[in-house]
Amino acid sequence: LKFTLLAGGATGPRAGLLELPHGVVETPVFMPVGTRGTVKAVDNLDLQSLGVALLLNNAYHLWLEPGGEAVEAAGGLHRFTGWQGNILTDSGGFQAVSLAGPDAGGARVSEEGVDFPAAGGRRLLSPEAAIRLQEQLAPDIMMTLDQPVLFPADAAQQLEATERTHRWAARCVAAWTRPATELFGIVQGGFDPELRRQSARAIRALGFPGYGIGGLSLDEPPEQIPALLQPVTRELEVDKPRYFMGLGSEPELLAAIACGADMFDCVLPTRLARTGSVLVGAGRLNLVNRAVADEAGPVEPGCTCACCTRHSRAQLRFLFLRGELLGYRLATIHNLHHLAELMREARAAIMSGGFDGFRERRLAVSGVKPRL
Ligand SMILES: [Zn+2]
Repeated sequence: LKFTLLAGGATGPRAGLLELPHGVVETPVFMPVGTRGTVKAVDNLDLQSLGVALLLNNAYHLWLEPGGEAVEAAGGLHRFTGWQGNILTDSGGFQAVSLAGPDAGGARVSEEGVDFPAAGGRRLLSPEAAIRLQEQLAPDIMMTLDQPVLFPADAAQQLEATERTHRWAARCVAAWTRPATELFGIVQGGFDPELRRQSARAIRALGFPGYGIGGLSLDEPPEQIPALLQPVTRELEVDKPRYFMGLGSEPELLAAIACGADMFDCVLPTRLARTGSVLVGAGRLNLVNRAVADEAGPVEPGCTCACCTRHSRAQLRFLFLRGELLGYRLATIHNLHHLAELMREARAAIMSGGFDGFRERRLAVSGVKPRL
């Protein structure tokens, strides 16, 4: 891994080049989520056409099926999925909270690891198992196992999860055997700026080539993001990439870029697309609910994606009302293009020193009210 910062410093907006085994990634970058090694409704050629250079796959879901051994036997994720760009896998730490409630299945955390519900009994994902699994998957970047907490956790819970995350990170480093896959450490710290700063310092001490910033975008008020992110970016080395995990709405992405984050992922654009919601300006438009039946224009005026240059809002609405499969693909292509374009434009603005003005314009031009 080689990361070259082309503009910006530790805490403000930055533009960089991340060189990985399967190509160069321009940052800031949004990674589409391919949960089981595939981004729902689109194929590798669609992703290539969208300029995607780095894809996220979920280790947890691939662990359940087809399993690390099966992917390894098929030659690793690149051979298994046919994706020739870069792949980052998350570790399963997020699922420790997203599957924690009894309704969600009841994932349980102990010092040993995360005990998940699984077909035929429970399965333990320890830090060592998370590394072993990801090494079987053989992505370009893998992540340490961490323990996020949901907002609003109390101070004792936040401290306990953060300190455990640090111990697990050290265990992940000790278990890491294949240097061909880079390992990023994950900063936690709950919703306390000082604890976040301490977490960044503790994770930094372990000598990772890059960092995940975890445990945010977990129901905390979005306007808290800068206060929780800046203590972290201030503490981390300026010349290492920072990946803000799980963030996907435009106002929040712009806020995180402004604080010095480089990499992002979220299921939001692909999940929204499958419900007929498209990203327009800094907001979104639901093609199913809104009266767009007679609109002959594109989903987003001015958009150059394969959906907007060929298809109308009226057709997209019809496709969704009838459950035609093409609708899911076109809306997914548009939403991913929308965020890729946001990153390209943000990058150009950072390089020319005009990011603040760009951000204000992006949030102002929308005909749809932004969530922030
Ligand atoms: Zn479009």
